[in-house]
Amino acid sequence: MVAAIAIAIGAILFASTGSGLAALGISCLIAAVGVHLRLTLPLQHELQQLIPRIEQRAAGRPIEALHSPMPQLEALDAAVSALLEQLCDEARVQQRQGRLVHEVLQASPVGIVLLDARGQITTLNDAFRGMFRLRGEPIGKRPIEVVPSADVHLVVEEAKTRGTAERAFVTESSDLIARAEALTDGILLRIEDITGRREAERSRTDFVANVSHELRTPLAAILGYLETMMQDEERIPEDLRQMLQTVHRNARRLRDLFEDLLRLHRIEARRRELPMERQRLLPILEEAVGPTVDRAAMCGQRLALECPKELIARVNPDALVAIVGNLASNASSYTPPGGHIQVRALQGEDGVRIEVSDDGIGIPRRHHERIFERFYRVDTARSRAAGGTGLGLAIVKHYARACGFHLKLESDEGQGSTFTVALEGPVP
Ligand code: ADP
Repeated sequence: MVAAIAIAIGAILFASTGSGLAALGISCLIAAVGVHLRLTLPLQHELQQLIPRIEQRAAGRPIEALHSPMPQLEALDAAVSALLEQLCDEARVQQRQGRLVHEVLQASPVGIVLLDARGQITTLNDAFRGMFRLRGEPIGKRPIEVVPSADVHLVVEEAKTRGTAERAFVTESSDLIARAEALTDGILLRIEDITGRREAERSRTDFVANVSHELRTPLAAILGYLETMMQDEERIPEDLRQMLQTVHRNARRLRDLFEDLLRLHRIEARRRELPMERQRLLPILEEAVGPTVDRAAMCGQRLALECPKELIARVNPDALVAIVGNLASNASSYTPPGGHIQVRALQGEDGVRIEVSDDGIGIPRRHHERIFERFYRVDTARSRAAGGTGLGLAIVKHYARACGFHLKLESDEGQGSTFTVALEGPVP
């Protein structure tokens, strides 16, 4: 009988508080007290009173203290009452926190989705529904079943294997970035609408591009006249000749700067990924290092290109020429005469990668984080002397991003530099 009462009380507690452990604890307590008191029939009667009292308390109704001829029973009633109160408090706190999390989730302008271990949606917010104009109930479905975007599916799949993943993509009306992170038991997917930010950036770079474009034409005329004048250098007095050479050098620097600004603008203005095709890498790399070969030879540097003849990868040839060309040109600019430059393509476990390395002055570690920003230089005077525009690595970064390549820099002061471009996977 006592066991039956204990189980009944446990069941009521379990149903009212949801806490199996507490219910079990109280059941055991009652059973133990029952055994201890060697229950008699009157005691059974007293114990049965407890059940409606517990029910009343669980329903939140106030109840007076129990008066019983058995002090142990009073103590038991008080203990049950205190425990129930504590459980109710905890349940209230949890409810409040749940509500808060829900409100924060709904207030977020970022689209948020939680997927369970099977990849099915368990939670999502209104921002996500709005971004993809979702109709119907997405809970329990996989993102690919409700969102008309292969990128969202791909970013989730990538996060399953790599832990995190990020993809930028466009819909008819918006520029979006999807980020996915593997959790202990599922995936957190966040979609950010960056249309406004992109438009602001676009109008800024449009302005720079327009100015560059407008200045390019008069500059071409100045350069043309200068070069014509300098064809007959012998007839020009020495002091004037030196001045003309300085004007010529600076005019060329300006032209290179405008060219690089326009090139950067063209990559940034693209709304879609660059078209990619499977190509043999050797001819592309030969074209990329071509302009640096002569310069390196003039500086007494040794430039080696290493690439298996039949190595094939998915690339955009123009972008790869720009990426490797810039890295090779930098390697030559920042390596003293007699130094070595190596451009190497190889098939690694994670796909094809290209390494451009040199044994030059190196880049101190504190600069690594910012080195790919436009106009960021370790040593401005040295960069200018080398004819740099300060945009080379920014162009490399943007082309790599547009192609889905990953970049890595290994370098330190006086230790040379190695830039790795992973074409098909994360940088090893
Ligand atoms: P720049 O036109 O100045 O070369 P980049 O964007 O190409 O502009 O490079 C930015 C800066 O990074 C350079 O000014 C230089 O300080 C540093 N840098 C780039 N490549 C190398 C390299 N291979 N070795 C040493 N420093 C480098």
